[in-house]
Amino acid sequence: GQITRQDLQYLEILGHGNGGTVYRTFHQPSKVIMAVKVIALDATQEEQRQIMAELDILHKCDSSYIIGFYGAFFAENRISICAEYMDGGSLDGYGAIPEPVLGRIIVGVVKGLNYLWSLKIMHRDIKPSNVLVNTQGCVKLCDFGVSVQLLTSLTKTFIGTNAYMAPERILGGEYGIHSEIWSLGLSTLEMALGRFPYLPEGSKPSSLVPFELLQCIVNEKPPTLSLEHFSPSLIEFTQQW
Ligand code: ATP
Ligand code: MG
Repeated sequence: GQITRQDLQYLEILGHGNGGTVYRTFHQPSKVIMAVKVIALDATQEEQRQIMAELDILHKCDSSYIIGFYGAFFAENRISICAEYMDGGSLDGYGAIPEPVLGRIIVGVVKGLNYLWSLKIMHRDIKPSNVLVNTQGCVKLCDFGVSVQLLTSLTKTFIGTNAYMAPERILGGEYGIHSEIWSLGLSTLEMALGRFPYLPEGSKPSSLVPFELLQCIVNEKPPTLSLEHFSPSLIEFTQQW
């Protein structure tokens, strides 16, 4: 059945993002722990209906590399998206990840992307905070762009540039699988190094990306890993873009 606000018991905040807040919740009727993302949204009745219809594809996504979807609902000017809770959290919180572990993670990410692409879905927001893990050892993707209307409503309220975007996307060029490969490569570098490749240790790319950083991404040669610290196969992988 449909999930409603009344059925959910909000337990704690898992994190804040650019546009929303994610809560760990308990869904009483099903006794399932869920991660619920709440996003403030300016959308008309018709736009809300459109978003709900588009999110319906998520019910058909059935892959062990994609986060499970339980449903979504609107309340006041907010949308709540209910998804599988991952008790290991996202991969932006782990610092530098050792190569053997990173290898397993990337295999999961690539299988998840391949699944989405097979359904003609572009992820559009690949970055370490959108790769989740659990203590069963699963690696799953979340926050991919299934609803065009949701993306449109979001860009009305938020700035549409993030630090993982490919140069051609920053420049307003055509978005395609190659742009996703860029974000995958940059995310791989970040997880290997434990820092965002373009920034010094300790600094995270903010949601308001400074012009200088965008310029650097567009004009400089892409970052690489040094042979001193990483295996030739990982280095080669990150250069396949
Ligand atoms: P942005 O909003 O810029 O995309 P983000 O991905 O960090 O950044 P959110 O998607 O709002 O922001 O997520 C906030 C945090 O909540 C994540 O970093 C992650 O740690 C946690 N989180 C999100 N979804 C889940 C989930 N299904 N299970 C467990 N933790 C989650
Ligand atoms: Mg996210």
